[in-house]
Amino acid sequence: MNRVVLTGTGVPVPDPERAGAGTLVELDGVRLQVDAGRGTVMRLTGAMTPVADLDVVLLTHHHSDHLTGLADLVLTRWIGGAHHTTIVAPEGATSRFAAKVLDPWREDVDIRIQHAGHDGEPTVEVVAFPAPDTPAEVWRSGAVTVTAVSVHHEPVLPAVAYRIDGPSGSVVVSGDTQVCPEVEALAAGADVLVHEVRLRAFAEAVVGTHYEAIAAYHADAVDLGAAAQRAGIGHLVLTHFIPPPTDGYEPFVDEVRRGGFTGDLVAGPDLTTVTW
Ligand SMILES: [Zn+2]
Ligand SMILES: [Zn+2]
Repeated sequence: MNRVVLTGTGVPVPDPERAGAGTLVELDGVRLQVDAGRGTVMRLTGAMTPVADLDVVLLTHHHSDHLTGLADLVLTRWIGGAHHTTIVAPEGATSRFAAKVLDPWREDVDIRIQHAGHDGEPTVEVVAFPAPDTPAEVWRSGAVTVTAVSVHHEPVLPAVAYRIDGPSGSVVVSGDTQVCPEVEALAAGADVLVHEVRLRAFAEAVVGTHYEAIAAYHADAVDLGAAAQRAGIGHLVLTHFIPPPTDGYEPFVDEVRRGGFTGDLVAGPDLTTVTW
């Protein structure tokens, strides 16, 4: 079975119902985790995918809400018997963060090896790539390939989206970005597009406040509906809801539909899943 699971639909504002940003993609037998915000390990456990079973972690950008669960993920894999973790990340702050993720845990690792008899220490391999202006392959496992492209989340650079292709489908995960032609082109014909979303009504309501800058570097829901329609997306899955959807998902769905998207549209809580 292939599936996409939202392991976290939240944003930096804490919410007991929403883990930090993350998407699990299981495609043709390869398990890929895109980003690892707070609570990722708990959500993966809830999704019945043991964290030790992941094949690779893909990071989109250096924002804490996408990264604070990474050490937990790597250490929990180790305790679960998977000593090695491969992390794919754009070169720069994100790849540097990933390379150092175990450094503050040196003493804990040493004590667990001595005291609990762990067989060897955890290791991280960072596959760093220059964030590309046009889609470029950055990782593969058998017939499953991962392609990345730079997106528009300025001033946070680099920031990338990923496309995962396999014999039985294709999934694109936007990371954090404004609606942009790069993601639209990357997602052309994809079966599933997981995209962050920000209500236009929210952006209009916060003009002149310090939230204006935050609203500006996220994806306008109406524009997203138009872009997803042009890209011919089968399933559009919304995540990273801004503002938090305390009034339900209808405002997000309504704005995306207003933009013209007519395909299957999914807006839901953590562990929302698309299978095929
Ligand atoms: Zn974010
Ligand atoms: Zn961000």
